[in-house]
Amino acid sequence: AGETTDVTLADLPLRDDLRGRSPYGAPQLDVPVRLNTNENPYPPPAALVDDVTDAVREAARELHRYPDRDAVALRRDLAAYLTTATGVPLTEGHLWAANGSNEILQQLLQAFGGPGRSALGFEPSYSMHPIISAGTRTEWVPAPRRDDFSLDAVAAAELVAERAPDVVFVTSPNNPTGGSVPLADLEHILRAAPGLVVVDEAYAEFSSQPSAVRLLAKYPATLVVSRTMSKAFAFAGGRLGYLAAAPAVVDALQLVRLPYHLSVVTQAAARAALRHADATLGSVATLAAERDRVAEALRGLGFAPVPSDANFILFGRFTDAATAWRSYVDSGVLIRDVGIPGHLRVSIGTPDENDAFLAASKEVPR
Ligand code: PMP
Repeated sequence: AGETTDVTLADLPLRDDLRGRSPYGAPQLDVPVRLNTNENPYPPPAALVDDVTDAVREAARELHRYPDRDAVALRRDLAAYLTTATGVPLTEGHLWAANGSNEILQQLLQAFGGPGRSALGFEPSYSMHPIISAGTRTEWVPAPRRDDFSLDAVAAAELVAERAPDVVFVTSPNNPTGGSVPLADLEHILRAAPGLVVVDEAYAEFSSQPSAVRLLAKYPATLVVSRTMSKAFAFAGGRLGYLAAAPAVVDALQLVRLPYHLSVVTQAAARAALRHADATLGSVATLAAERDRVAEALRGLGFAPVPSDANFILFGRFTDAATAWRSYVDSGVLIRDVGIPGHLRVSIGTPDENDAFLAASKEVPR
């Protein structure tokens, strides 16, 4: 073994506040049925693949040049999509894009969080919110949910007023529990928040609730809505997240974003994929119907699925979730142990994949 491999993390001059922390760690295992990262199980249609290929071939002629630093054409396309989806008129000035909504969230915390500042979130929720907070040295303030994982908006607003965090995260629909936050509840929190309220709408297309984009005009200095093409858009591998906010928020993010962060290839591929939005989003209704079928079947097997507005279901109860998770993997079904005692999370797949999951659920130790 070479000497470089003898060095461990403990030997490095790593920041003290990162010592002992764990990286984001959804296992990437090669099993037949992968229902663990809430992707769209349907591959992109052939016409989309062709269009992306043509667009990338065209873009490749310009690979010796840096991309459009401000991704204006892509942001215009995203604004057009979001305007159609929400009924709220938006322009490219309201939109910002990055490599996945994770990068959007990181840029938000780079600009609005940081040393001496804090971010509050309602747990259990998306595990990257505290991890990105740690990476940007933003103090993380965990706040509770009700025992049924729903958000008590009145208690939430009181806590936000008391703790006065610089950033509040509200995930709607919430990952990993699946419930959406009604706009009236969101407004309780918006009225109480002295800083930014980031509504993480990664799963919005699956939800029956209206988007928080509708509240942008009312709370322009504090509301940010984060979205992604990774879920309903079937573009997780393309890495494209975006936000809608007042143009001033976009100005703020330009202070922290790396120049040319979105490659020529990414911008071209994302624009091509957006041209096929109707085809890819056609799977949303199928997935929502499958979600309801799977929840009903789980109930029939004696499980307790948490009501979900997204493309995944949190369900229990297990005596030992880690043992149950292993049993699913042994049956060729990869789902997710999100660290909630007695519970596991399953992403909605194709009907065949869901049937494989349900068959494994009959055998799993509880
Ligand atoms: N927010 C939530 C709530 C998520 O579940 C995810 C993906 N798991 C993301 C953001 C980030 O996704 P991406 O970076 O692929 O846009």
